Amino acid sequence: VYATVVPMDPPLADGGQALVVLSDRTRERAVERMRADFVANVSHELRTPLASLIGFVETLRGPAADDPPAQQRFLEIMAEQGARMNRLIDDLLSLSRIELTEHQTPAEPLELAPLVSHMVASFEPRLTERNIQLALQIDPDLPAVAGDADQMAQVLENLLDNAVKYGRDGGVLSVSVTAPQSDRWPVRRGVVIAVADQGAGIPREHLPRLTERFYRVDKGRSRAVGGTGLGLAIVKHIVNRHRGQLIIESEMGQGTTVSVWLPAQQVRSRLTNTV
Ligand code: ADP
Repeated sequence: VYATVVPMDPPLADGGQALVVLSDRTRERAVERMRADFVANVSHELRTPLASLIGFVETLRGPAADDPPAQQRFLEIMAEQGARMNRLIDDLLSLSRIELTEHQTPAEPLELAPLVSHMVASFEPRLTERNIQLALQIDPDLPAVAGDADQMAQVLENLLDNAVKYGRDGGVLSVSVTAPQSDRWPVRRGVVIAVADQGAGIPREHLPRLTERFYRVDKGRSRAVGGTGLGLAIVKHIVNRHRGQLIIESEMGQGTTVSVWLPAQQVRSRLTNTV
C-alpha cells in the first residue's frame, strides 16, 4: 500500500491537499488466483474417479448385468477409485490442518530414531514385494529436536511412499538420520533425515515445482501408482512449521534424494539469581 499527497486543481476550499491512498493488489490477486486454481484442481481430481464410478454403475446395471466375471472386475476398479477419492480427501484434510497450525512452532521433544525405525519397518512388506533392499543408518549421537510426532511420521510416510512408488525394483532404498556439519545446512545444529531411492530420477526443470499442490512430473504415472500430487506439498508445510529445510536432489537414471533438516532444540541456559 502506498500513499501520495496530491495538490488539487482547482484547490480545495481550505487550500489543502488530498491524500490519495493507492493499494497494490497484485499480491492479493495472485492469492485469489491460486485459491481459484486450487478449487478447480480439487474438483477435477475428485471428478475423475467419480466419473469412472458412475460409468461402472451404469455398466453393471446394463451391459454387464448378466456377466458375473465382468462384474467382479468392475467392482475391483470401483473399489480402487473409491480408495483414491479417500486418499485425496485425507491429504486435503491433512493440508488444511497443517496450515492452521503453521504459525506455531512445535515445542514437544521428539525422539527421531525410534520414529524413523518404526516408519521404515511399516514399509517392509512393500519393500519385499518390490525386492527393494533397505540401507538404514541412524547416528547414535543425535541432538534433541522439538517436533510434532504425528506430522513428522507423515513426512516420513510421504517420503518413503514416494521412494517406493518411484524407486527401482531390485534397487536400494537408503534412509539416514545424521547430525551433519556441512555448509549446505544452516550453521546451527540440526538433524537431517535423508531418503534416497534408485529410481528414474526427476528432470531438473521440475525440481523447483515439486512441492506445489497437484504438481506431478508424469500425471499418468502418479495416478497409476496411487499418488494424489499432494504428498510433497504436505511435507513442505510440515517442514516449514518446524522451521526446517527441505532439499530435493535428483540425477536422471540414478535416483532421487529428499533431505529434511530440523533445527536442534535450543538448550536453555540456566539462570542463577545473584542478589
Ligand atoms: P504424488 O502423490 O503424485 O506422488 P508428490 O507430491 O508426493 O505427489 O510428488 C509430486 C511428484 O514428484 C510426483 O508425482 C512425481 O512425479 C515426483 N516425485 C516425487 N518423489 C519422487 C521420487 N522419489 N522419484 C521420482 N519422482 C518423484
